Amino acid sequence: MCKFNRAWIGICKEEPDKDYCEVHAKTKCSVCGGQAEFECYETAQFVCGTPLCSDVRCKLSHYITHHPYADMFIKCIEEEVERQGYSAVEVKKETYRKRIANLKEIKNDAVGKGWDYSMIDDFIKESEVKLRGLEED
Ligand SMILES: [Zn+2]
Ligand SMILES: [Zn+2]
Ligand SMILES: [Zn+2]
Repeated sequence: MCKFNRAWIGICKEEPDKDYCEVHAKTKCSVCGGQAEFECYETAQFVCGTPLCSDVRCKLSHYITHHPYADMFIKCIEEEVERQGYSAVEVKKETYRKRIANLKEIKNDAVGKGWDYSMIDDFIKESEVKLRGLEED
C-alpha cells in the first residue's frame, strides 16, 4: 500500500510496488522539497492539505507560517519526543503561545535573508526539556 497519508482520508489506497504510488512519489514536501509523506490535516475553514515530510523541522516551519497555534506545536513536539523515545509529560500552553509568537517573529524577520533551521532546533531542544519535566518556568 502507498505510504502517503492524506489529510482526513488516511493512507492512500493505491497498491504500488514501491513505497509510494505514481502520484505520491512525485509529491514533494513544501518546505524542503524532499519526498512528501503526508498532507497537513489542520482545518480552519477547510483542510490545509499542504504536502509535508515527517522531518519535525519541516512541520514546525510550516506551522509557524500557516498555523501558529499552541495545539499544533504541542502535538508536533510530542510526536518528536515520542519518536526519540522519551515520554511526554503535560505541557503548559501559555508557555508555548509565547514561544511560538517569538519564533514567528524571528521567521518573519528572516524572510528574504534566508530562514535556517537552527532556530527550530533550539526550539525543539528547549521543548524536549520542558516535556521531560526537567525544567520549570
Ligand atoms: Zn499514493
Ligand atoms: Zn520536508
Ligand atoms: Zn497546513
